[in-house]
Amino acid sequence: MKMVKNLGLGLMGLGLMTSAQAWTQPTHTKIVKDALKYMGSEFATAQQRRAYDIYVDAAGSEEAAANALGKAVSDVDDFEDTNLGAWYVGYNYQPSPYSLGGIVLSAYGVTVNYTSYWHFLDLVHGEDAHGNAHGGYYSPNVYRQNSDDPAALEDLAAEYYLSPYKLKDSDYKSTEAHYRQGSYSSYSQYQNFDEMPFQPVDHLGMYWYGQFKTAPTFAVIGYSLHAIGDASQPHHVHVSLGYDHAGWEEWVDGRYTEYNDFTRVTDILPAYNAQKSFQDITLQTGNVAINYPQVLTDDSFATRDDAASSLIPTAIAASVTVLTKGINYFYGEGGE
Ligand SMILES: [Zn+2]
Repeated sequence: MKMVKNLGLGLMGLGLMTSAQAWTQPTHTKIVKDALKYMGSEFATAQQRRAYDIYVDAAGSEEAAANALGKAVSDVDDFEDTNLGAWYVGYNYQPSPYSLGGIVLSAYGVTVNYTSYWHFLDLVHGEDAHGNAHGGYYSPNVYRQNSDDPAALEDLAAEYYLSPYKLKDSDYKSTEAHYRQGSYSSYSQYQNFDEMPFQPVDHLGMYWYGQFKTAPTFAVIGYSLHAIGDASQPHHVHVSLGYDHAGWEEWVDGRYTEYNDFTRVTDILPAYNAQKSFQDITLQTGNVAINYPQVLTDDSFATRDDAASSLIPTAIAASVTVLTKGINYFYGEGGE
């Protein structure tokens, strides 16, 4: 119990101080806030409720805990930890406002942050260049698609604007090293955007979940939950920036309250097991999202409604599982 008491202090002391993407940032936040709310609801199991009590006690209120988690899960999209460039243009974490790409993007009001290239989980192609069974974003995938499934304009545009650029050496040594998670890697793989095998988003989540086990804060468990949210978005497991990626995400955000049904979450939760590894929980979530490829090509209400009715409760259920697993760990019950 002493460990648990310290955990509460850690969450309180560190967590609250921290201040095109998958799902909009508000949707990520809503999913995580709902996960916490669920854990304090009549639907919760004893373990979920125990975890809820610890988060809420540490923050002082459910609202404070939800805000801390909600901010963290959203902050991941704003990390400035992935700079691409070359000696002759310098390195930036987003297109330079003076570059052609930057001018075009700002004309369309689009914000791009290169950190989002770590937010994909490829469940379509096979093993990646790191030896991962499932890789992440990989620009050459646009050439590997067959003619019935042409590369999206957005992926071709990224490839066109970024193809000569390399990953900044210091980001390879920090960001990539964090997300390597035991896989093979070499800086030579990051010399040209065209060939960069970005590490998959389950690794991003594994890294931050690992940090939580070492020094628990709302920030790091919130960051890990970003991987769960991204894995539940079909564009992220089909690995494409295009196919109305942003339009679909905006659509879901606008109708979120029609899909965060706790009865559905309760139906889905028994399929999740908090004893499984963080990676397994993320892959399980991605394997639900992969069943909704139609949202990439069909923007009809029926298609989107069908997908969102499954994916939002799934994302909430998976987030409940991780939030519970994180606290279980400090009771020696964290599983894999
Ligand atoms: Zn993301």
